Amino acid sequence: MNTSEQAAVWSARTSAELYGIDEWSNGYFGISPEGEVVVHAPTAGGDAGVSLMEIVDGLQQRGLQMPVLLRVENILDSRISILNDSFAQAIEASGYQGHYRGAFPIKVNQQSHVIAEIARFGERYNHGLEAGSKAELMIALATLTNRDSLIICNGYKDAEFISLGLQARKLGFKCFFVLETLSELQSVIERSRALNVEPLIGVRLKLSTKVEGHWSEDSGDRSLFGLNTNELVSVIDTLRDANLLHCFQLLHFHLGSQIPNIRSIRAGVLEACRYYIELVGEGAPLGYLDLGGGLAIDYDGTCSTNGHSRNYSVQEYCIDVVEAIQESLDHHHIPHPTIVTESGRATVAHTSVLLFNILDVTHFEPTVMPTSLPEGCHEMIANLWHTLSVIRVANLQESYNDVIYYRDKIRDLFHAGDISLRHRVLGENIYLAALQKIAALLPHMKRIPAELESLPQ
Ligand SMILES: *Cc1c(COP(=O)(O)O)cnc(C)c1O
Repeated sequence: MNTSEQAAVWSARTSAELYGIDEWSNGYFGISPEGEVVVHAPTAGGDAGVSLMEIVDGLQQRGLQMPVLLRVENILDSRISILNDSFAQAIEASGYQGHYRGAFPIKVNQQSHVIAEIARFGERYNHGLEAGSKAELMIALATLTNRDSLIICNGYKDAEFISLGLQARKLGFKCFFVLETLSELQSVIERSRALNVEPLIGVRLKLSTKVEGHWSEDSGDRSLFGLNTNELVSVIDTLRDANLLHCFQLLHFHLGSQIPNIRSIRAGVLEACRYYIELVGEGAPLGYLDLGGGLAIDYDGTCSTNGHSRNYSVQEYCIDVVEAIQESLDHHHIPHPTIVTESGRATVAHTSVLLFNILDVTHFEPTVMPTSLPEGCHEMIANLWHTLSVIRVANLQESYNDVIYYRDKIRDLFHAGDISLRHRVLGENIYLAALQKIAALLPHMKRIPAELESLPQ
């Protein structure tokens, strides 16, 4: 096929559609009319579109070689703004009485540039950090400048981790210990007495809400993390005995990452609210409800409940969360808590691109085509040969069906040992030649059948 025929079938638009760029890119990436991938970085002065090829050329002129991990900090800024603004709008629209505080989970991207940018862009929103280990707590303390931002400590905590968090309290950080086991509580009480600092305590709940998706083991009764109802009651009794019940201010749960269905999120929030109400009844002040991560990315662009997608927008997520908490607590006249989320992938997934050289290209083209069939070919190869010779605009679909049929027959014959490797190669080549001929004639069809649209061009 010559290039003008190819161009008639294929276009920059067709590429964008094939890769679903408009669906998954959230507007951050697109394809220019020249066929280059363009990154749209939202800036104060509007949306600046820059071709990735231009960036690659610039990098190469400066002597840098591929591969390069390109990070777009304006997109990170945009993601943090969208999350915080969407919660602010949902809170405003529903008359919710509490606030929103985000906490980026450091484990999702520990690169110091990324964490520093999150701290910088998040400053105006009091966006904090979630630390799952002592090392991550150190990162949080070294990076956060805003003392109103939260530091949420999840994960297993030894005495040193706890001491560090208590020192952070002395420095004025809002540093929460989220208890994952009962033994941590004893350490927290001991260390806080020794250092004479009151801790901020949270509890990770083990909810029975199960979610679909890749991380479903993080949810449900058998999940590895969090306290069960027995242990929860024991936390309250222990804290009351230690005169520290007023320190119990946060309730946390994490259903798993990449939750595709908004209904699971709502169900999780409603279940957590049941605990919230009971714990307030028991005398815990609470005031913070932390939903963990889970805000999903539509990687496949289907906007569905597939594992790699999600059936909701950030705005819908915020509205559903705010409304679910409000409805549950209003029944019991309980003040609305500060809503915390630890959204990781939703903050960073769009912000970096790996640029690399194409090392080789696989061609699906016939290599050698004989002018006539050799002697002694199997009937199926002869049929395929004949089909190739009669392909016309008028019979494209029928030819396509026949070509596929004979190709499969020829493969079966080879598997059964009835034709040789060389005849199989001949068959494959005739098949590819036939596909090319069909593809070349497609532009002459009034309406291209769906099945033929995606033919290798
Ligand atoms: C991994 C993790 C997150 C981040 O989840 P995302 O789905 O990426 O937002 C948040 N909180 C906890 C406790 C986690 O383990």
